[in-house]
Amino acid sequence: MSVRDTTILDRKDLRYLLIDSLRLYSDNVVFIDGNNPYRFSINKKTFYVFIKNVHESGDGRSNQDECRIQVSKTKNFNEAMNSSTDVIVLGYFADEKVFAAWNPFLMRDRFNQKKQISLYSRFSVQKEAAKEKIATYRDANDQSVISFIPDYLGLYLENLNSIHLLSDLELIQLVDQSDSLNNYNADGELDTSEGKLTITHARQKRDPNFRRKVYDAYNNKCAMCGIGLELLEAAHIVPHSHEKGTDDIDNGMGLCALHHTAYDRSLIYFDEELNILINENKMEYLEKVGLDSGIRKFEKLAFDKIQIPENHTLRPNIGNIKIANQTRGIF
Ligand SMILES: [Zn+2]
Repeated sequence: MSVRDTTILDRKDLRYLLIDSLRLYSDNVVFIDGNNPYRFSINKKTFYVFIKNVHESGDGRSNQDECRIQVSKTKNFNEAMNSSTDVIVLGYFADEKVFAAWNPFLMRDRFNQKKQISLYSRFSVQKEAAKEKIATYRDANDQSVISFIPDYLGLYLENLNSIHLLSDLELIQLVDQSDSLNNYNADGELDTSEGKLTITHARQKRDPNFRRKVYDAYNNKCAMCGIGLELLEAAHIVPHSHEKGTDDIDNGMGLCALHHTAYDRSLIYFDEELNILINENKMEYLEKVGLDSGIRKFEKLAFDKIQIPENHTLRPNIGNIKIANQTRGIF
């Protein structure tokens, strides 16, 4: 039997995988804390997400198509389960780049009886999900295990209360509806047998006053690399989606389009002494998933320190920097 070369994502990698996946659905994503389960808010609703890698081993299975994850009640897991926040359990299939999600409400009942539980699906369902965007495995009790591409993790969380009750056809309608709304950058609803489902593709609104203030304070240049060239953007230090993400100048920074995206994607950040740092953890993750092209070029582009305005009333609020890095999954 040939063993396929698979990428092993560790806990840090999985955190970035989740953040990047949620951001495909909404800009309104904040990493709060936790280490598997990870706590996020998306569109202002908070969830714990527990995630495990699933690999094809082929050993000891009577059904070659069967796959499973085992979930143990670790200290972190128990704390999450004892909180009032919903805890989601996902399997990640790196070969197919697909998540599988088990009904968290049923899982909770099973955990009340056992210390460790096994959750099953089928490899063929993961392959189908990679091809068709979403696919369902129904177990002997007709419970749905939903597999989907990363684009729909936010949609799944947003509709957690009823999504496992939907028919296969309704699930397909839901992702189609989500795709078409995403194209128009709009929000919407879908009527199903289980009631209304919501679809919120929150995209950040741009405040022209904030932009003007930031451009002036930063002399129309990127604080990380000095590039102007009409590439400047007004970045929020604490993201706009966070309760402390104000449009005040001390929460703003002029960044070029490249560094603005890189900052929001946690590739580059700055500490409370304004040193500019590359996020090595994220870079390692991108190397593992084959998205590290141009890394050396990128690293050379930035100064050592943030170029802050001379007028110190216009400078970044130091207290916000820590929150900013935390919400981007950097610590
Ligand atoms: Zn720049």
